[in-house]
Amino acid sequence: MRADIVICGLGPAGRALAHRCLVRGMAVVAIDPNPQRRWQATYAAWTDELPSWLDDTTVAATVVRPHAHGRRAHTIPRPYSILDTGRLQHSLDLTGATVLTGRVTTLDRHTVTLDSGRTVRADRVIDARGLRRRAGRAEQTAYGLVLDDPGQEEPALFMDWRADNGTDPGSPRSFLYTIPLGGGRVLFEETCLVGAPAIDLGELARRLRCRLRARGIPVRGDEPVERVRFPVVGGAPGAGRFGAAGGYLHPATGYSVGAALAAAGGIAAGQPATSNTARAVYRLRRAGLRALLALPPDELPGFFDAFFELDLGLQCTYLSGHADLAGTVTAMTRLFAAVPPGTRARLAAATLHLPALSHAGSRSVIME
Ligand SMILES: Cc1cc2nc3c(=O)[nH]c(=O)nc-3n(C[C@H](O)[C@H](O)[C@H](O)COP(=O)(O)OP(=O)(O)OC[C@H]3O[C@@H](n4cnc5c(N)ncnc54)[C@H](O)[C@@H]3O)c2cc1C
Repeated sequence: MRADIVICGLGPAGRALAHRCLVRGMAVVAIDPNPQRRWQATYAAWTDELPSWLDDTTVAATVVRPHAHGRRAHTIPRPYSILDTGRLQHSLDLTGATVLTGRVTTLDRHTVTLDSGRTVRADRVIDARGLRRRAGRAEQTAYGLVLDDPGQEEPALFMDWRADNGTDPGSPRSFLYTIPLGGGRVLFEETCLVGAPAIDLGELARRLRCRLRARGIPVRGDEPVERVRFPVVGGAPGAGRFGAAGGYLHPATGYSVGAALAAAGGIAAGQPATSNTARAVYRLRRAGLRALLALPPDELPGFFDAFFELDLGLQCTYLSGHADLAGTVTAMTRLFAAVPPGTRARLAAATLHLPALSHAGSRSVIME
């Protein structure tokens, strides 16, 4: 079988790319072990990351000014959109593609072999197979409850590090993420940003219930649950790789869907999936992950205060500028200058791979 492009993996990245290639009239083969799988995760992205071609109905809700709390309160003047997962998947229409059910075992620039032994050749092969969980790999975990009309005025919380989740100050830290899902429903999610190992879901569930109790938000007990666990490392930018597999997942935040949607159109048009600058930014982001893993729990709220007090442009660049090397360097340098001196020493040590200066007990340097 021959095609213009073979896309391995039909997660958000692979499906978006396949869809954009089809819109351009290309002959597309897409391969996934379970191509009909219905996506369940609640995806969100910064509104400015979403491409103009994306159907408006895929956005379930937009928060114009999300809030954050470290030791201080912050307002982020950057709209944040929560996607309707079912509509997103449906809108990335694959009509016209040859969709094969199977597992890709080997691939190179022009040839893909499936576990059935079948071979597909194409002008271009893209690996969008996501990331595999593996012992020692840093992960993000979260436990969320979807509450119907919780009847409180709390604004959407992008990240709330306040200590009302029943943990002592020395425990690994988690934050509360609160977003509207549309129709009066709100997702409250206790999140371990990154950990190696990450905080387990049972503990996050306990913390979430404790927090909701502390804030007077009633829980019936039969609410829909969202469980989150995915690796934040394991991908790498490469000419034939896209999505989480291709370094589009920010290892220090866990976000990738907005970046993949934003890039899909250009890659379908023939742009390379990566560049030398994107590779350099990815290395800096990995350093950002090491820094996060090296910080003692009680320094995280202050670190994020400094982050949310950066110029908005620098925040945006650090979070979303996956090929903006100068901007990423500036954002990281300014952040480094803004954190307290003790934190600064640990950030420098972690960034430069100096284990001796890392926070005692941290696995930041060896875990990768
Ligand atoms: C509950 C939850 C909520 C999340 N919320 C957000 C969010 O708000 N924003 C955000 O940016 N990210 C979020 N994430 C992370 C996000 O899901 C991932 O980063 C994203 O799915 C990566 O997309 P991808 O298409 O690159 O890879 P994946 O989604 O992992 O897709 C990879 C695809 O490849 C297929 N595959 C695997 N192996 C093979 C093989 N050998 N051959 C062929 N196909 C293969 C898989 O079946 C899968 O369909 C969330 C994750 C979870 C679990």
